Amino acid sequence: MGIDVQDFAQWMLKANHTIQANKDYLSELDRAIGDGDHGINMARGFAEVQNKISRELNQDIGALCQNIAMTLLSKVGGASGPLYGTAFIKMASVFKGKEKVSLDEFSKALHEAVNGIKMRGKAAPGEKTLLDVWEPVSSYVAEYVADLSWQSLKSFAYQQMENTRPLEAKKGRASYLGPRSAGHLDPGAVSSYYLFEALCLTMLKGEKGT
Ligand code: ADP
Ligand code: MG
Repeated sequence: MGIDVQDFAQWMLKANHTIQANKDYLSELDRAIGDGDHGINMARGFAEVQNKISRELNQDIGALCQNIAMTLLSKVGGASGPLYGTAFIKMASVFKGKEKVSLDEFSKALHEAVNGIKMRGKAAPGEKTLLDVWEPVSSYVAEYVADLSWQSLKSFAYQQMENTRPLEAKKGRASYLGPRSAGHLDPGAVSSYYLFEALCLTMLKGEKGT
């Protein structure tokens, strides 16, 4: 089992679909503990990702991933744009020149993405950021790489998103609220969940009939 360029493209299209459908919800979450633009930022970035994918087919996963990284960097904006952009740049470096990647390689890519997010945002786990979804998801994939259930990964990612609710934000705009940031989901953790949910749904669909 692995991920080919078609899966990767489908993953991004599905992610875009969910982000567009939840644009207002993501901004509403950001209004509670930030400045209310996370939905707009993500929707702008992923709409352009969708455009890129429909215009530029026939690339390997590395090139496609790098292309997406550049799009997110230039289009998302805010604090989250450079973080998502960095995550995809790091993944692209692992996928370079490959038409298809094994789950082992995908796991390595996630690990690199997490390191990139940490380097760029200087956040640690538990500080109520998107890292609180990316880091445990990456560890989960690494742990179960030999026998990964996409359904279980989806539930696991959902739980990690939910776990950001009681946390007090220590990074980004939400940290200005101090203890008042507790009791709300972190917007970036929610958009990150959408991303991984889209991955799991894409891969589950591919499993049918195999
Ligand atoms: P901005 O905060 O600039 O308005 P967004 O609203 O698009 O940008 O994104 C906010 C999200 O970015 C937060 O919910 C959080 O998940 C993430 N974030 C902010 N700062 C950091 C950081 N230093 N490290 C990791 N994630 C961060
Ligand atoms: Mg914001």
